[in-house]
Amino acid sequence: MRVVSATERVWRQAGALPGPRVLVPTMGALHAGHVALIRRARQLAGKKGSVLVSIFVNPIQFGPREDLARYPRPRREDLAICRREGVALVFAPEPSTMYLPDHSTYIDESILSAGLCGATRPKHFRGVCTVVGKLFHLLQPHFAVFGEKDYQQLAIIRRMVRDLHFPVQIVSQPTVREADGLALSSRNRLLTPDERQAAPVIRRSLLQAAENFAKPRANLKKIVHTLRTQLEQAGGRVDYVEIVHAESLAPLIRAGKPAVIAVAVFFGNTRLIDNLQIV
Ligand code: AMP
Repeated sequence: MRVVSATERVWRQAGALPGPRVLVPTMGALHAGHVALIRRARQLAGKKGSVLVSIFVNPIQFGPREDLARYPRPRREDLAICRREGVALVFAPEPSTMYLPDHSTYIDESILSAGLCGATRPKHFRGVCTVVGKLFHLLQPHFAVFGEKDYQQLAIIRRMVRDLHFPVQIVSQPTVREADGLALSSRNRLLTPDERQAAPVIRRSLLQAAENFAKPRANLKKIVHTLRTQLEQAGGRVDYVEIVHAESLAPLIRAGKPAVIAVAVFFGNTRLIDNLQIV
């Protein structure tokens, strides 16, 4: 397995790997959710192809008061996981080489990024699209695998690839969960024991919301209100609870499919997101 950090070398090294090349972009602190993505990538690459993983805590997708500094970076463990999973190349650049001091070019998706996480994290998706676009250029993947846990991100990346004609096929992978339903996240390790114990309310209340959504004459306002109350009663500070159309991400007024119920909630200082697709 090759570990490359130089932006100027990686283009040649990645391009020389046998195709199909399948990329899994991550911010590291790898867990079983990332491993599911890597295994999916392995399948897509087949016997001949190559799996590439990027590990980069992308500074420009964090807001000034967000958790960039305390984001976990267990580099040695991450590399051991990649080696075990048959990854051909890990790209782990330094922020200073990804963003020169006077960098001034961004990729900015303007519609799907406006709501949900984009409403309280205004430049977040601009940062995500910019880094993913750079990774696509540098690593030249034929496929890239993204998790459905970050549903809005997945929709935005699909839109970016379509709108800017990136020659890469986006593949999505279902959310991997703990036994109690909590979606795996690198941020889960920032939770205190009490917060960790409370957090599975997210999944429980989403499942209940989906049940109510399926009832005749479902009242979406009431469903959102109940979900929000359940999260708050468990000690969560709600960023948003929304029911949106699965493709346009526009808020739904009436129950209809395909829909997504999406949630962002703080437990202590840690912001967790999850969603449930209704197809
Ligand atoms: P991150 O390292 O958090 O930026 O995530 C890298 C990729 O892993 C993204 O495509 C995420 O959607 C995906 N991912 C994160 N958590 C999970 C999970 N629990 N299940 C499946 N995919 C996940």
